[in-house]
Amino acid sequence: MTEPVVDLSAVTFGYTATPVVEDISLTIESGEYVAVVGPNGSGKSTLLQLVLGLRRPDSGTARLFGERADQFDDGERLGYVAQHASAAKEMPITVREVVKMGRFPHVGFGRLSEADWRLVGDALRTVGMESFADRRITQLSGGQRQRAFIARALASEADLLVLDEPTVGVDAESVDAFYDLLATLNAEGITVLLIEHDLGAVVEHADRVVCLNRTVYFDGPTDEFVDSDALARAFGTEARVLTGVQE
Ligand code: ADP
Repeated sequence: MTEPVVDLSAVTFGYTATPVVEDISLTIESGEYVAVVGPNGSGKSTLLQLVLGLRRPDSGTARLFGERADQFDDGERLGYVAQHASAAKEMPITVREVVKMGRFPHVGFGRLSEADWRLVGDALRTVGMESFADRRITQLSGGQRQRAFIARALASEADLLVLDEPTVGVDAESVDAFYDLLATLNAEGITVLLIEHDLGAVVEHADRVVCLNRTVYFDGPTDEFVDSDALARAFGTEARVLTGVQE
């Protein structure tokens, strides 16, 4: 058996003495498609940061591909797409240059080989951004920018894609294309972990839902989540997926 991609065990973390995530145990196996949902401020982004090893648990353990998450140094196995891909907004670089960065963990400071460039080209094609390759990242729509960042993750041959509200500010048509792309990548074996505020999209696309509000209110198959009262309990309202009532 291969080791889990993500393995959190009894993780508690707070920015102050008060924990914002508490006693979280979460195992994600290779190839899963998992959505994290919860009200604003429920600890979703913090949880992703713990998964990625950007923060250390106050107690409990966080492991990535079997290694301690905060010591994980196999960066090419991870693709992280931040909310709004905001870090990119100020970067005066082209889409091709962004995607090329995906090869850096493999080549270090060396030059990209022909094979590396081929992977860059393949990634651009997969996300449908070839014709934008020489456009500056600052001149893209939100949806195009997100696809450029997915292409970077693909070029790095990442096994795990972690996405923090990837479709915020993206128009409805591009959102559909975006989810089609994620489904294709997942079908090819890439593990997907995302935060999504649009519960309709979660129900339609994710196989498994983790419903969070400081602690885990629900963790299981999406259809069981729809039938459960986890949403109402976590959101503290009568929110229901099928009535479209959201946070
Ligand atoms: P979500 O992603 O579900 O909206 P977050 O993980 O961003 O939730 O935040 C959880 C809680 O932690 C919130 O109360 C938020 O105000 C607090 N928080 C988030 N980031 C920081 C930070 N860098 N410093 C202090 N508090 C933070």
